[in-house]
Parts: sequence; structure tokens; C-alpha cells
Amino acid sequence: MTHLKNKAAVVTGSTSGIGLCIAQKLADKGVNIVMNGFGDAEQIEVDRKAIEDKGVRCIYHGADMSKRVEIKGLMATAERNFGTIDILVNNAGIQHVAPVEEFPPEKWDAIIAINLSAAFDTVHLAVPMMKKSGWGRIINMASVHALVASPYKSAYVAAKHGLLGFTKSIALELARDGITVNAICPGYVDTPLVRGQIADTAKARGITEKQALNDVILAAQWTKDFINPEHIAEAIMFLCSDAGQNITGTDFTIDGGWSAS
Ligand code: NAD
Repeated sequence: MTHLKNKAAVVTGSTSGIGLCIAQKLADKGVNIVMNGFGDAEQIEVDRKAIEDKGVRCIYHGADMSKRVEIKGLMATAERNFGTIDILVNNAGIQHVAPVEEFPPEKWDAIIAINLSAAFDTVHLAVPMMKKSGWGRIINMASVHALVASPYKSAYVAAKHGLLGFTKSIALELARDGITVNAICPGYVDTPLVRGQIADTAKARGITEKQALNDVILAAQWTKDFINPEHIAEAIMFLCSDAGQNITGTDFTIDGGWSAS
């Protein structure tokens, strides 16, 4: 996979969980990184430096992905530093679990903005650069919830279904430009986002946290095991490889059998 060396990637939401793992794996292949996301400034700097220690450049930009003007700043920073964007991973995402009649409207707006609309904004700005170089990889971190629903996650399910539709549409538009566009559809991956859902799910259903984990969260995941974030990142490395050149418009599903049932 030597062709990835010196390419530039923007990975949104890469200060934690799946995104951080993707940024680290891309850096292992020699890709320069723009990191993004929230978190403790000292920890972010430790993670940024660890990526640079792999022999690439890594810049952190703290754009709030719910704000169009800040997304513009993120993409401009990538272009200014690396001249182009070759790989775009739209990974930033949030969740909120509540019955629809109690769902806070501002949470609905935030989930749609971060999990769906931000991908439009980054793609809108990255595609002219990718078309110019004749090569690009766009990966949208969807979810098994882009394919099937669960109760109490109306905004998340709506956003992820929308993200998959967006993925398919632009995959067709860009099919002859050397740019592939795919959605990754994971089941439950062991990250802070999921750990945070255990308590919320227990509260929404009036059950204990242990019941929420075994009977609700992992109920549909037939392997009865969380997915390792590294395995998601490896799938993305494959999509970025030459072997991925004809894989476009797909829902790349990594869900322990969830959507098969
Ligand atoms: P995480 O909470 O560990 O990481 C989320 C990242 O997004 C963090 O870096 C956070 O700072 C960033 N982020 C949140 N709001 C942001 C904002 N407004 N602007 C910029 N950055 C913001 O979660 P994760 O589990 O690694 O999730 C990453 C992606 O994978 C999400 O899109 C999520 O929906 C998706 N996903 C996760 C799972 C899972 O089981 N963990 C399953 C399917 C899909």
C-alpha cells in the first residue's frame, strides 16, 4: 500500500474511539493527518504527537462539526498545510437515547447537523480537490442503524439512514472521477460513545445497566461481543487500497450478524 504515503487525510471526530484508531492506522501507512474532535487539550496533544512519531505530519483542528463556518476552517487548514485532501473520513458523531415525545428538539438538531449535514459540508469542499488530483477516498461512518432501526434513537437512525443515502448518491456522481464513496455500517464497537449509552438505555427502558448491556445493546449482535475499533480501521485501509478502487456506493457492514436477522 505504498501509494498512500504522503497523501493527506481529514478524519473528523478523531480525538476518541473509532476515529482516533483510523487516524493512527492511516499514519502507519504514511498518510498525513488532520485530526479533529473535542476533548482534553493535553490528551489531544499526546495523541497528535504519537501520530507524528509515526513519521507523518499531524495537525489538530478543533472545528465544531455542527458549525458550517468552522468546517470551512477545518478544510481550509488541511488544504493550506497539505495542498489537497485525498482521504476524507466523516466520522464525528453523537448519540441521544430517549422516547420520541421526550426527545429534546435541540438534540435532534445537533444529531442531524453532526452525523449528517457535516458530511455534506466536508464532501462539498473536498471533492473539487479530489477531482483535480483524479483520486479520492470518501468514507462516511454510518452504522448498522443506517440499515435497521432501534427504538428511542429516532434522530440517530434518521441521520445514519440519510448518511447512507447521501453516500450512494455521490458515489454515482463521482464514479468516473477516481473517487470512491462508501459507508461503514458497524454494530456495537467498544468506544466511549457506546459505553455512554448503557446508562441512557437503562434509564429509557427502566432496567439495570447490566440488563441494558446484555439484553438490549448486545441483543441483536449475534456474536455477543463488541467490535474492536481496529477492525473498523482495517476495513477502511482496505477501501483506501488499490483493491478498493471499484468498491463504491456500498454499505460496508461490520455488525456481528445483526442486520442478517
Ligand atoms: P466517540 O464518542 O468515541 O467519538 C466521537 C468523536 O466525535 C470524538 O472525537 C468527539 O470529540 C467527536 N465529536 C463529537 N461531536 C463533535 C462535534 N460537534 N464536532 C467535532 N467533533 C465532534 O464515538 P465512536 O464510537 O468512536 O463513534 C465514531 C463514529 O462511529 C460516530 O459517527 C458513530 O455514530 C459511529 N458508530 C459508532 C458505533 C459504536 O458502537 N461505537 C457503532 C456504529 C457507528
